[in-house]
Amino acid sequence: MPELPEVEAWVRELDPLVSAFPIERAGPAHVATLKTIDPPLSSLDGRRLAGARRRGKHLLFPTEDGELVLRVHLMTAGRLRYVAPGGKGPKTPMFRLRFVGGCELVLTEAGKKKRAGVWLSTPDQVEADLAHLGPDALELDEAGLTEILSGERRQLHPLLRDQRVIAGIGRAHANEILNRARLSPFKLSSELDEKETVRLAAAIHEDLERALELREREKDDRDVYRVHNRLGEPCPTCGTPIARVDYEEHTVYYCPTCQTGGRVLKDRRLSRLLR
Ligand SMILES: [Zn+2]
Repeated sequence: MPELPEVEAWVRELDPLVSAFPIERAGPAHVATLKTIDPPLSSLDGRRLAGARRRGKHLLFPTEDGELVLRVHLMTAGRLRYVAPGGKGPKTPMFRLRFVGGCELVLTEAGKKKRAGVWLSTPDQVEADLAHLGPDALELDEAGLTEILSGERRQLHPLLRDQRVIAGIGRAHANEILNRARLSPFKLSSELDEKETVRLAAAIHEDLERALELREREKDDRDVYRVHNRLGEPCPTCGTPIARVDYEEHTVYYCPTCQTGGRVLKDRRLSRLLR
């Protein structure tokens, strides 16, 4: 799933492109993808977008007149592409925005499950829809993080990727950040001392900014992730082979030397005992 750095890189790339020309035609959209019916997509026709913005992992495209916002969430397999006039775009995208002059913004989604979403609503409605999101991970400072950690008593890995707590971090960057901070994914947030909190706050920024810089240069997962999906490969800090714990829906990657005091966590039940 695209996380903050990837989405932010797209926002920066798309910002000048989507505002260059007025919209000629919005849609069609797949019935599973378009989540709103009022106002209709056609109400975008003839308007110009002010650019591209981001809130957590959501992409926002407000209209220049301030009346409407197109919101896109890519979920796991959704991808946005900007296609130049005459360029070869997908035959049946999940959603298409055609601009005057022939450029197109298209949303594709691999796989059978269609989970990516497109919403068209007013700025107030978008605010209400996204009000549950926590502070943006890139804007979170040490004081903000301290407050979050002390207010929750949860394992660090699920806490970091809870969008209501901190917006923008998912499974992959939770692995990267905790490795960089030398903290166990299973440590309880309420049990971090001051030094550990400082390390975690620094790791969030260092990891996300490094990833953003790489994503802006169109580097892919293999360049961005040093711990995530790298079972058995050397830890970037100490060289110990990266280990993992499997869950039903995802996998936690970590360095036993840097993060769990040398302990290898076999499965979820055991990991509960080894915080
Ligand atoms: Zn290590």
